[in-house]
Amino acid sequence: MNRIAVYPGTFDPVTFGHLDIIRRGALLVDRLVVAVAVNTEKQFLFTTQERIRFLEEAVSPFPGVEVCQMDGLLVNFVRELGADFVLRGLRAVSDFEYEFQMAGMNRKLSPEVETIFLVSGEETMFLSSRLVKEIAGMGGDVSRFTPACVIPELGRRMMARLGRGSG
Ligand code: ADP
Repeated sequence: MNRIAVYPGTFDPVTFGHLDIIRRGALLVDRLVVAVAVNTEKQFLFTTQERIRFLEEAVSPFPGVEVCQMDGLLVNFVRELGADFVLRGLRAVSDFEYEFQMAGMNRKLSPEVETIFLVSGEETMFLSSRLVKEIAGMGGDVSRFTPACVIPELGRRMMARLGRGSG
């Protein structure tokens, strides 16, 4: 069987939490499409192209994983791709309410699409893109939280945003 899953998110930027879900999710399906959301209400630190580039570099060791831009509704993207599942990650309790609501709404919009959840690993349970950005903005070491390809630009961007500059 040719099983396809879509892992949607904003990945602003990708963290080792996302990569843990991607690595484990990829073992469950034949093809895992990481869908980088464009038109959400969030204010992004990185452009769509940057978020895709970081992800592409980070997922290159994983077979069967590809990265795509997603412009509209998740259920439409899933349908057009002929995917079987939506994959999401769950941390502690903080994600539950939002994920529960989203899975329910997606089921209403497209009953044939099943959402599957992977519970975060112990190492990445507390990790979020938001915290990684905050730590980087204050000059902290984020090398345990996000791939090396993200770090230089993340530091520059956050320092500039917080008005700290580098000189
Ligand atoms: P969104 O903007 O949809 O919240 P994110 O890019 O922040 O997207 O996250 C995408 C998915 O990855 C979500 O299901 C989120 O719960 C999950 N996720 C994010 N960080 C982690 C983590 N540290 N461990 C497990 N899952 C995570």
